[in-house]
This record gives sequence, C-alpha cells and structure tokens, in this order.
Amino acid sequence: YQAKADAGGFAVFVPEMHEGLVARMRLEADLRKALTDDQFIVHYQPMVSMRTGEITGVEALVRWQHPERGLVPPNEFIPLAEATGLIRPLGLWVLRESCRQAVTWAAAGDSRRGLKLSVNVSARQLQQDDLVEQVAGILRETGLPAQRLTLEMTESVLLEKGEETLATLTALRDLGIRLAIDDFGTGYSSLSYLHSFPVDILKIDRSFVERLSTGGDTALISTILRLGQTMKLETVAEGIEHPQELLLLRRQGCTTGQGYHFSPPVPAARIEELLAEASPDGRRSVPAPRPAT
Ligand code: C2E
Ligand code: MG
Ligand code: MG
Ligand code: MG
Repeated sequence: YQAKADAGGFAVFVPEMHEGLVARMRLEADLRKALTDDQFIVHYQPMVSMRTGEITGVEALVRWQHPERGLVPPNEFIPLAEATGLIRPLGLWVLRESCRQAVTWAAAGDSRRGLKLSVNVSARQLQQDDLVEQVAGILRETGLPAQRLTLEMTESVLLEKGEETLATLTALRDLGIRLAIDDFGTGYSSLSYLHSFPVDILKIDRSFVERLSTGGDTALISTILRLGQTMKLETVAEGIEHPQELLLLRRQGCTTGQGYHFSPPVPAARIEELLAEASPDGRRSVPAPRPAT
C-alpha cells in the first residue's frame, strides 16, 4: 500500500488505497485476536500409498473459524500472517496441535505402521533463529517420533539465503525429520538446489496432475517422476481428483497420492473414522488403485 506521488511531489492517498489499508489493518487485528482466542483449527488430508491404497500419512492444513465470516481458508490469511510475522506463532501452534493429534492416532491404531504427519512451513519460519529448538521442543513435549514428521516448504525457500537455510534444514533433518518440497515444478527452472539441499520428498503440484486428465502436456510430470526415482526421493502427487490420473501416476512409479479422489481435508475426528475402517489385515480402506495392466 503505497502512497502515490502527485504532480507537486506530495504523497496522496486515493480512497481505494485507504479502504484497502483499513481492510488489511482490520484483518491483521482479527488475526492477532484469533491467536489468543484460539480460533484456528487444523484439518487433515489423507496421503495414500499408490501401491496399496493405505493411508500412510496426513497433511495438516490450518483453517480459521472466524466469528462472523465462518471457516476461512488459509489462502485468505496466510499471506498476511507471513507479512506481519504472525506466521511464526501460528506455525508453531499448527505444529504443536497436529503433533499432539498424530500421537493419539498412533495410540489408537497400529503403531507399527506409524501414520506420518506433514506440516507446512513458511519461509519466514525458516528464518526464525530458534526454529530448530522450538520444533525439537514440540516433538519432546508431544512425544511424536521425529521420523513420523515431515516439514513441507516451497522451492522459493531453498533459493533464499543459502547458507543459513541450509544449516537450519540440516539441523531439522539431523533430528530425524523429513523434508518435502511443496508445489514442486511451479517455482524455478533451475533444479541445482536439489543437489545442495537435504530433501526427501517431492510434492508434485496439482496443476501437473490436472493435465493427466484434461489432455494437457504430460511430459513434465513424467520427467519429474523419473527425476524423483533417479534421486531416490519419494514422490507425492497433489490434487488427484480422477481415477485416470491415479492410474497414470501409478504406472509411472509415483509413490504417494493426495487429493479429493481419496478425501478432501477433514476434521481430526473423521481421520479417526477413516483409520478405523481398516480391513482385518490392517489395510486402510481408501479406494485402492487397480493394478496397471
Ligand atoms: P498446500 O500445502 O499445497 O496444500 C494443498 C492444498 O490443495 C490444500 O488447500 C488442499 O485442500 C488442496 N487440495 C487437496 N486436494 C485437492 C484436490 O484434489 N483438488 C483441489 N482443487 N484442491 C485440493 P488449502 O487447505 O486451502 O491450503 C492452501 C495452502 O495454504 C496450502 O497449500 C499451504 O501452502 C497453505 N497452508 C495451509 N496450512 C498451512 C499452515 O499451517 N502453515 C503454512 N505456512 N501454510 C499453510
Ligand atoms: Mg503442503
Ligand atoms: Mg502443495
Ligand atoms: Mg500450495
């Protein structure tokens, strides 16, 4: 929100800017209050093995239960939370809340299987000096084994401040946590960072998956899947909505799927039901992909 310089060099605010500024300030005040008033809630989206159809993990996705606006999706407040720095306390809240939740699922279900938890982390959080200690503290406090936790970050994170980011990521990984690149393929044409950062998982952006059923260009997704195999990384396809996408992804060796075809993000209690619907051999009954012919 910048002031426009008028002909005489004075800064003037045009009315629309004022309105935008007021709206932003109100949202910021609401966000601060939401943190202290406990208005956030975490929903979870199943991540499914492409091989067996079992739920192998969940991604934690935050929502805001706004007193007047109802359930607000993250795209409407995460950017401002990032700009204001509120993403740090909010991000730690999401991590603590979802780790706590994941531990109860392990206790209720088959702990041998060890349901995995994925949590999104913003660039701003990775610049937080004490992030590693905070994360280690939350794991200790909740009792979630580090091996069950994955932190997701977008490619842009890896291109900022090389050395410090590398040190933070290495320290997180030394704790036993796995690292995923979210929305992979949308950010940068240079892949050189893949060799310099300790990454375990590529999450292929939904836009590439979509092309598998809409007749768009599918060369890129094949390339990404092969890259994943070559680098021995787990590959997760985001936004699977159609059985046809599932089939093609599976044929090309994609390891894990996520999307409305399996389940949208749901409240914790619904995840519990999905896990409880496991068949006698312990398999969880999300529609299993058919074998490739
Ligand atoms: P993301 O991490 O890439 O999460 C995937 C998004 O795709 C989620 O949107 C999910 O609901 C949506 N999605 C999943 N399957 C499908 C599908 O089959 N079709 C379609 N059309 N969409 C699907 P959501 O929950 O609205 O989250 C949006 C973004 O907000 C996330 O993208 C992530 O970048 C951010 N976000 C969410 N929670 C957090 C958080 O706790 N911390 C941070 N820093 N960011 C978060
Ligand atoms: Mg994500
Ligand atoms: Mg994503
Ligand atoms: Mg995204």
